[in-house]
Amino acid sequence: MAEDVKKETLGFQTEVKQLLDLMIHSLYSNREIFVRELISNASDACDKLRFEALSDDALFEGDAELNVHVDFDAENKTITFTDNGIGMTREEVISHIGTIAKSGTKEFFNSISGDEKKDSQLIGQFGVGFYSSFIVAESVTLTTRKAGASEDEGIRWESEGVGEYTLETVKRKQRGTEIVLHLREDALEFLNGYELRQVIRRYSDHLNLPIIMIKESTGEDEEGEEAKEIEYETVNAAKALWTRSKSDITDEEYNELYKHIGHDYDDPMSKVHSQVEGNLEYTTLFYIPNRAPFDMWDRNQKHGIKLYVRRVFIMDDAEQLLPPYLRFVRGIVDTNDLPLNVSREILQHNKVIETIKSASVKKILGMVGKLAKGDAYDKFWKEFGTVLKEGLIDDDKNKDKIAKLLRFATTHDDSEDQKVSLDEYVSRMQEDQKGIYYVVGENHATVKNSPHLEVFRKKGIEVLLLTDHVDEWMVNHLTEFDGKELQSVTKGELDLGDQENEEEQKKTEEKTGEFKDVLERLEKLLDAKIKEVRVTNRLTTSPACLVAGDQDMEANLQRILEASGQTIPTAKRVLEVNPEHPILQRLKEEKDDARFEDWGRILFDQALLSEGGKLEDPAGFVHRLNEMFVEISK
Ligand code: ADP
Repeated sequence: MAEDVKKETLGFQTEVKQLLDLMIHSLYSNREIFVRELISNASDACDKLRFEALSDDALFEGDAELNVHVDFDAENKTITFTDNGIGMTREEVISHIGTIAKSGTKEFFNSISGDEKKDSQLIGQFGVGFYSSFIVAESVTLTTRKAGASEDEGIRWESEGVGEYTLETVKRKQRGTEIVLHLREDALEFLNGYELRQVIRRYSDHLNLPIIMIKESTGEDEEGEEAKEIEYETVNAAKALWTRSKSDITDEEYNELYKHIGHDYDDPMSKVHSQVEGNLEYTTLFYIPNRAPFDMWDRNQKHGIKLYVRRVFIMDDAEQLLPPYLRFVRGIVDTNDLPLNVSREILQHNKVIETIKSASVKKILGMVGKLAKGDAYDKFWKEFGTVLKEGLIDDDKNKDKIAKLLRFATTHDDSEDQKVSLDEYVSRMQEDQKGIYYVVGENHATVKNSPHLEVFRKKGIEVLLLTDHVDEWMVNHLTEFDGKELQSVTKGELDLGDQENEEEQKKTEEKTGEFKDVLERLEKLLDAKIKEVRVTNRLTTSPACLVAGDQDMEANLQRILEASGQTIPTAKRVLEVNPEHPILQRLKEEKDDARFEDWGRILFDQALLSEGGKLEDPAGFVHRLNEMFVEISK
């Protein structure tokens, strides 16, 4: 019993309280998941001990048979989970059980919607597994001792899950963690061996860890009960799922393993399982979650795959096993070809890992390729598309494969939904069309209504409408597809290479002569801002637009870089004007220099505005515009 009763009462973090409330309410209809969560934690704890004992056998304390016992006591209304895994120190109990030490907690609370279903899925992503005990328990007692620590270093944690918990130091002979749930009156149905076994099998058959219960008496020899020895039995299959033959594994079993490793309550969107034999022997099992993890945007966030060597768990989040652009994938790699004492440093420059990694990327892109053939791809693309695009930048080897998986919004239907593949685009290209055209901008409305698209719309040439942040970088790396060059519609001189083009060019030349005077006056006026003024065939309805030089940075990228605090020397652009537009006609006749200046500045400013740019002197623009209105209404 406890000698050094150093009992103290501590408060939960505010977030924990909120989280508990939310969980108890939103997961009420799926209460049995506490079994999965507690066994899942016990399994992780045993994995960790097995791993640490590789370098320090003494941690087993003479007992290397790792397992979890599940008992219930109908009289006292308790269920107990006891594992002989790694256990926790006092500090660990405080930091793991009393707080949510995870980053992103704030984001989580911001994303709470009030919609119970959605919120309960969110909860899953946080891996607040242990707290699920409070769905069925009015109080929980957790007693633990770290493997290798002395018997005096046991810790007892107790709480009703309301606002506080107590901690005391206790004596504990057995290493590992024991969790006693004192059930609520409305959860007594779990005090039933048959029911418990069912739930355990459902959730834990795939774990490589025996889950042991007392064998139930058949009722025949009840009289001799006292003399009877307690018998135990293993109630789950206790075989690592991925080692079993694929044909013997059901979808449910695959899904359960996913929930364990992915800390998710939802089924995955897709999976791919491969068992490779030959020079190297390894098994991989990868899942695509149904939703993007909340921290997917952070490339530095822990992510990755669970690594096993010969069925022994080695580490979580082995990011060396997949490139960053596949950071949304969850799964395991189990290989026979690495030493058990492999470290993260070794993984970084390891040939075996390189081979497994490149085969894994192929498998995963193959799985995504399969998804891409069905309706589910829309959802995949919405959740993970932007991250996948990073692959064009990170993974040159698989660029072509990734390019085929991309989906875009285009002028084909002007919809904001990204649904068009490059193959589809190419199949619609006009016979003499020179390249794949795109426009990049800040948002859909800006790019869709960009004046630069006017001639493309007139000629029925499709243009990709790019608005994701990563797109600017993407087009720098994806310069061609299927032998067709990707070309920006806001860059360089326009040469659509079609038949009409020649006539148009002739006409442009004529107009350039006709407007020589206007062009020169405009150039002089806007000299500080632009490189050149020229007559365009790009525009049909707008009077003017700005175009980047062939080798220059585009305005959108410049704006993104500037917004991130970088100072970029501004590359002057070309002002292209539409000679058919009444403003240009008007300018041709304008003799008054002051008036010409007003028109000229308005022309430049509106070209800038229509591509989402910022005016240097917005008040000046408004003033000039109002002057014009007054004049017209006279
Ligand atoms: P998660 O398992 O998603 O990390 P939990 O709230 O279930 O979240 O657990 C928090 C942490 O508490 C675990 O990551 C682990 O470090 C520790 N823990 C929970 N249960 C046990 C256990 N049975 N043995 C050892 N450590 C545990």
